[in-house]
Amino acid sequence: MNSVNDIRKAFLDYFARNGHEVVASGPLVPDNDPTLMFTNAGMVQFKNVFTGLEKRPYSRAVTSQKCVRAGGKHNDLDNVGYTARHHTFFEMLGNFSFGDYFKETAIELAWELITKEYGLPAEKLLVTVYHTDDDAFDLWKKIAGLPEDRIIRIPTHDNFWAMGDTGPCGPCSEIFYDHGEGIPGGPPGSPDEDGDRFIEIWNLVFMQYEQLAVDDRIDLPRPSIDTGMGLERIAAVLQGEHNNYDIDLFRHLIAASEEFSGTKAEGEHAASHRVIADHLRASSFLIADGVLPSNEGRGYVLRRIMRRAMRHAEFLGAKDPLMYRLVPALVQEMGQAYPELSRAQPLITETLHLEERRFRKTLDRGLALLNDASARLSEGDALPGETAFKLYDTYGFPVDLTQDALRRRGVSVDMEGFNKAMERQRAEARAKWAGSGDQATEAVWFSIRDKHGATDFLGYETEKAEGVV
Ligand code: ATP
Ligand code: MG
Ligand code: MG
Ligand code: MG
Repeated sequence: MNSVNDIRKAFLDYFARNGHEVVASGPLVPDNDPTLMFTNAGMVQFKNVFTGLEKRPYSRAVTSQKCVRAGGKHNDLDNVGYTARHHTFFEMLGNFSFGDYFKETAIELAWELITKEYGLPAEKLLVTVYHTDDDAFDLWKKIAGLPEDRIIRIPTHDNFWAMGDTGPCGPCSEIFYDHGEGIPGGPPGSPDEDGDRFIEIWNLVFMQYEQLAVDDRIDLPRPSIDTGMGLERIAAVLQGEHNNYDIDLFRHLIAASEEFSGTKAEGEHAASHRVIADHLRASSFLIADGVLPSNEGRGYVLRRIMRRAMRHAEFLGAKDPLMYRLVPALVQEMGQAYPELSRAQPLITETLHLEERRFRKTLDRGLALLNDASARLSEGDALPGETAFKLYDTYGFPVDLTQDALRRRGVSVDMEGFNKAMERQRAEARAKWAGSGDQATEAVWFSIRDKHGATDFLGYETEKAEGVV
C-alpha cells in the first residue's frame, strides 16, 4: 500500500466517486499550443474548455498529467538532484471544474482527500491564499478549521494565476506540508521560503475573472477550478520521506542505476544517481511522445537532458553506456499507468544508446579540457565564457551541462562571455559567406545556424564519417 501507483489510483478513484470524468493524460508535446515547449500542468489539455472554445460532455474531470518543466517559462532543470522536490518530468494530479463547482467545493474536496483519504494530520498542513481573497481565507477557516496563523496571505503573483496576458485568471491557494524542524527553510511568504522544510504539495486555482485588456477585468459568469498536486511530493509525504527521490518509484530506478554503474547512491554520488533517475524518466517519456534529440527546439532540450544524465553516468565511473540499460526498470514502474511508454520501449532504448555512444566519443576529451581549464578556479570564481563556448562548440557540451559540472565546486560560468563568443562566431560565419551569390540558400543556412549553433551539425558529420551512426 501507499506506493506511487496506489496513490495515483486513490486520487483518480476519489474524484471519480465525486462525479469527475477520468481523462487520460495529454501528450507532453501539446497539440493545441505551439507556443508552449512542453505540457507543464494538468490544465494544458483543457485550455480551450476553460475559455469556452471547446465543449466536452462532462463538466468535471480528473487526470494524472505527464509534465516536463525543463525549458520555457517553467524551468526546473537546474534544481534537479539538488532540491528535495523538483523533477524535470513529474506527474501532476488534478481535478477540474468547467463552470461547475467553485471555491467552496474545491476546498472541501481537497481537504477531505488529504486528511481523510490520505490521512494526513491537519497540524502538519498550512495553506496560502491571495492576499485579497477573503472568501478563500474564510472557507479554509470554516472547512478545515485551520487557525488564522496557518492561513497565510500572499501578495505576489505566486498566488495569482493567469493563462496569459488576456483570458481566464484568478487567485490561487496552495497547500503546504511541514516536514519538520530539522530541515532548513521557512514557511511560505517568509524570507527563507525556498528551503525544503515547508513543501508545496497542491495548488488550487480559482478561475473567477477574465482579463480582457491590461486594465479591463470582468467576473466570469461561470467560474472554474483547476488544481495541481505533484504526485511525487504527496508520495514522499505519505511514505514518511522528506525527499522525493526516496519514494518507492525512485528507489527502484536508483537501485537499477546502482546495479548497472556498480556504485552506491551515497556521498558525492547521491546527486548523480538522482539526476540519472530523473533524466531517464524525462528522456523516455519525451521520446515516447515523439520528441527525438536534435539541435533545435524541443529536441535540443531533450538532448541537453540526456547529455547531462550521461555526464553524471561518466562521473559515476560507468565505462559503457548506462542509460539505455535502465529502461526496463522504468517500464516496470510506470508502463502500466502509461502504456505509451511500453509501446515505445524499443525506440527509447535505441535512442538512448545511440546518443550515449555519440556523446561518449567526445565526452572524455571535453571533460579533460574542462578539468584543465578549471583546475585553478575555486569557490566563487567563474569559468571564462570562451572555454564554455569551446566545450559547446567542439565537444557538444550544452552550457548548462558545463554549469552543472562545476556547480559542486561553487564555480560558475561567465555567461556574458559565452554569449559573446557565440555571437562572434555567428558574425564570422556570416562574413565568410558574404557574396557567395545564392541569397535564398544563404538565408536558410544562417537561420538554421542561428537557431542551432553550427557545431553540433559539424559534429554529426564528423561522427558519420567515423562510422558511429
Ligand atoms: P514550486 O514552488 O515548489 O517550484 P510551483 O509553484 O512551481 O512549485 P505549480 O505550478 O503550482 O508548482 O504546480 C502544481 C504542483 O505541481 C505543485 O504544487 C507541486 O506539487 C508540483 N510540482 C511543480 N513543479 C514540480 C517539479 N519540478 N517537480 C515535481 N513536482 C512539481
Ligand atoms: Mg516552480
Ligand atoms: Mg510555488
Ligand atoms: Mg504553485
